[in-house]
Amino acid sequence: MIDLHSHSTISDGLLTPSGLVKHAHSKGIKVLSLTDHDDVEGLTEAASEAKLLGMHLVHGVEISVTWKRDTIHIVGLNVDSQNKTLLQGLASIRQGRFERAKQMAHSLDQVGIKGSLEGALKYAKSGILGRTHFARFLVETGHAKDVKTVFKNYLVKGKPGFIEHTWTSLENALSWIHTSGGIAAIAHPARYDLGKNNLLAFLNEFKELGGQGIEVISGSHTTEQSLKIAKIAEEFEFLASTGSDYHGPGISYREMGSLPKIPETCIPIWKSWNEVNALLN
Ligand code: AMP
Ligand code: MN
Ligand code: MN
Ligand code: MN
Repeated sequence: MIDLHSHSTISDGLLTPSGLVKHAHSKGIKVLSLTDHDDVEGLTEAASEAKLLGMHLVHGVEISVTWKRDTIHIVGLNVDSQNKTLLQGLASIRQGRFERAKQMAHSLDQVGIKGSLEGALKYAKSGILGRTHFARFLVETGHAKDVKTVFKNYLVKGKPGFIEHTWTSLENALSWIHTSGGIAAIAHPARYDLGKNNLLAFLNEFKELGGQGIEVISGSHTTEQSLKIAKIAEEFEFLASTGSDYHGPGISYREMGSLPKIPETCIPIWKSWNEVNALLN
């Protein structure tokens, strides 16, 4: 009934903010967070739709971070989407995304794939331009049969279209989330390839910077991975979050409303959110 990680057309999802909320409603979700990449533009529309449907919309965002040399995603929940510091920070990431996109297009150009910047922009309905938009263009032009296949042959390390990019720092992301009244959670922690020592260093740094949450349940985790993350949550005294990371029909890890429950040993991140608990009970 609760899903705290999802995407709309404002970033790289396929459904509009209101379409996404309607979809969540049809899957039995009562509490939804819209967490578009580096943009909070969809929250007003999503919140009004949620209100109409008797749901609760948690104002969220998924921030792209570079920690050491790895890309890590941090979800901010209950952020104030009008907060100037947050808005300015996210705008700076989107600017960086656009510079990266130009370089990605150049890299694809060199393997004979022309016009990918314009092609990707056609799929970007808002201010963020990302690899998923390029992926849709590559499918459209017959370079891969679907988006998943694109991410095997293009846009990833060692393949055409991949550009090493420096996102914002972990410190910035957490400070923007906290300044705007939100709580930070590490997104899909099992998806990073940090190695054991770096993972521990990262978790410690996140905690030292005031990070409180971690996605124990994610659409992109296996059961085994969720159990491992649940242990980490216990050990580091992190609050547990859950989210499908839904991007729309056909391109998502998991359907909404089909995620397992947070293990009993974990404290849900919404434990003190009275309005949310009233809806869930
Ligand atoms: P970006 O932030 O522009 O680098 O793009 C990252 C996004 O690409 C993720 O949020 C996913 O939506 C998508 N993505 C990354 N890897 C894959 C994959 N293997 N299959 C499908 N989508 C992917
Ligand atoms: Mn995405
Ligand atoms: Mn992510
Ligand atoms: Mn996501």
